[in-house]
Amino acid sequence: MIRGRQVGQGCSCAKKCFDLVGEANIQQLFTEYWASGDWDIQTAYLQKQTTKVPVKRRRTNNEDNMHICVRLYHVIVEDTPITVCKDAFASIHGISKSHIDRSLTKVTASNVPVKDQRGKNGDHHKVSEEVAKTVIEHIKSFPTITSHYSRKTCPSVVYLDTDIVSRRQMYELYITWLKEKYPEIVACTFHYYDDIFKMKFSNVKLYKPRKDTCKTCDIYAVRCKDPSLSTDDKRDNEIRHSHHLAKAETG
Ligand SMILES: [Zn+2]
Ligand SMILES: [Zn+2]
Repeated sequence: MIRGRQVGQGCSCAKKCFDLVGEANIQQLFTEYWASGDWDIQTAYLQKQTTKVPVKRRRTNNEDNMHICVRLYHVIVEDTPITVCKDAFASIHGISKSHIDRSLTKVTASNVPVKDQRGKNGDHHKVSEEVAKTVIEHIKSFPTITSHYSRKTCPSVVYLDTDIVSRRQMYELYITWLKEKYPEIVACTFHYYDDIFKMKFSNVKLYKPRKDTCKTCDIYAVRCKDPSLSTDDKRDNEIRHSHHLAKAETG
């Protein structure tokens, strides 16, 4: 099931920000925010709706205290700014608080937005580290299995334990997965996804050899990585596994 973008939960602060803004206005703010469909415009908007103000503090001897600031978040309703808490601000726009933080760092000291550098003109090498991480996380999320065949010829090779037949298909699953898990991150191109797969997962094969996969080998492989295993147990595990393999080869 794909969860579409939507207004988040109301805040639990004393001001009851959702009541302050009103349900109809919240829906409108949300719709207009996403209607732009442009990452740079959205970022500029988030920056504009945020102000930094010095915290009023009791005077102390510590000079540093004088320079502490807090951020205030505002939404505009009928030309009037309403200050809301960060939770409400994030929820109203259907984004995470960490997305707000990231947007606010892309600004100069004089509050001028800095243009996003991601994926310009199809140059996939400029896609941010953040996107690369999501690709790696996605590929790692698939279960893998080993096989007798690959163990002899190329021990590091593992096969995806799925019905996926192409990397294009994996990429399509990635798009759905990303929307669900990191709605604020813009997906990379297939070409980029494929490059990461080839570069970082060269030992992962899509097609498993039909009769050569083995659940028993997988159990031994998992046990062998178990950090709680004693040296003796590990040795025992290895011996049992080699017996199993010898049996499989003759039988
Ligand atoms: Zn609130
Ligand atoms: Zn086996």
